[in-house]
Amino acid sequence: MIPTLKQTSRLPTRAQIDAVEHWVVVLRDSRTGLHWAKFPYAEVLEAPLARVRKDAPDAILTTDLANAKAGHVTLTALKSDIVAFDLLSRAGKLLAPHSGHKPAELGIAVLGFSPRQAERIAEAIISAALAAAADMPDYRSRAKERAPLEQLYLYGAAPRHRFARSIAESEGNALARELTALPPNELTPTIYRKRIMTLARESGWQAEFIGINQLQKKEAGAFLAVCQASPERDAGIMHLRYRPAAKSTDAGLALVGKGICYDTGGVNVKPARYMLGMHEDMEGSAVALGILLTLTRLKVRLPVDCWLAIATNHIGPGSYKPNDVVKAANGTSIEVIHSDAEGRMVLADTLVLASRAKPRLVIDFATLTGSCVQALGKAYSGVFTNQPGWWKRLIQAGIDSGERVWPFPLDEDYDQALESKIADVKQCSEAGEADHILGARFLGRFVEQGVPWIHVDLSSGNRKGGLAHIPTDTTGFGVRYTLNLLLDQKLL
Ligand SMILES: [Zn+2]
Repeated sequence: MIPTLKQTSRLPTRAQIDAVEHWVVVLRDSRTGLHWAKFPYAEVLEAPLARVRKDAPDAILTTDLANAKAGHVTLTALKSDIVAFDLLSRAGKLLAPHSGHKPAELGIAVLGFSPRQAERIAEAIISAALAAAADMPDYRSRAKERAPLEQLYLYGAAPRHRFARSIAESEGNALARELTALPPNELTPTIYRKRIMTLARESGWQAEFIGINQLQKKEAGAFLAVCQASPERDAGIMHLRYRPAAKSTDAGLALVGKGICYDTGGVNVKPARYMLGMHEDMEGSAVALGILLTLTRLKVRLPVDCWLAIATNHIGPGSYKPNDVVKAANGTSIEVIHSDAEGRMVLADTLVLASRAKPRLVIDFATLTGSCVQALGKAYSGVFTNQPGWWKRLIQAGIDSGERVWPFPLDEDYDQALESKIADVKQCSEAGEADHILGARFLGRFVEQGVPWIHVDLSSGNRKGGLAHIPTDTTGFGVRYTLNLLLDQKLL
């Protein structure tokens, strides 16, 4: 559920504070000191805050107020120029002590900032509150009934900003995280397809599932190679269409996502340690879906197509195997090298279909390579593009949204490592060096000539302890980033 938000530029009175049990309070930390403004409980909070700040100026005070509700307060002081990632991280820490109590109501007070700064800080806290309140899969029989967060009270930020975008982004992120965290037996391709169909009906999207028979007609041999060991024949490409108006043109944004519901590695089977968590190999598709939901909620005037490559990378007598040669829908022949590089196989044909429609931009999301994690760790994701003029904006969107990315090269000479003696291209190199770059080079072959394309390798899709304001290991990384790219960096 989405909580209602009541807001005022005034500060709360003592009675208003006493009426709500859970509070997040942020003061401005400037050269002239901390700005308490006229906060009712300043006199009792000042000394303990000074104590925790003695060792670390960015420390958070967690305390209870001596009122009837024993109001639970988290308090910190922020510099007004704090960067987005640090701001969101701090917002997450301010929320963490409240989350355990599952509050139905939360008060937020932002003191001493300019209206613009106050909005930015409030935005981060609201996003953190919604991220913490999102329902995640929990099958424990003793799992607590969660009381939903119903009401946010915001003091100190002008009411002209309605935070609609933060709320929509949080909803998209929560959807991506929830789907990704579902156990593999609870999110098979069949269950996933049904869930998306329901979502499409609710959201007014046109939906078409391009199943195995149709993929055979389209000669999508790369996709079909991966799913040929699935006895269920449940794999396919989900195509969703959002059109803001009846007469919308088709040339808009195409979102593409890798949706491998479970990745055993195939005949090049993964060792046990690397098999755990492989139900999350569909996160790219969940992120694409989350972005589509966010854009729909915001009623953006941009036609959006979403293409989700949904399959399982099974092991079976029919599995595709190294040295197989298959042909993708655009006629490119591929020599299979490693069955665990299935993501680029299903994406190859999906990118062909997505880019054939000549969108103005294709963005694909995939938990594609371990080498991207090797290169960046899990705090950043990797980006690649065939539009070198976009580098600056791609990086800026990461800085401004707090979902940080770093670009990698996409030069043609990397293709030497993918030369095959028997096919147009090798699926990957045997050596495995720079696999995130080679993976991107491989995918680029399946994007139609002249179609601008961005590839996001989601190295930050899962990080122990969460990332920035996201408290779960599954981060749903990419929704905030892409919204910034589209709406703030104005890539389209
Ligand atoms: Zn794999």
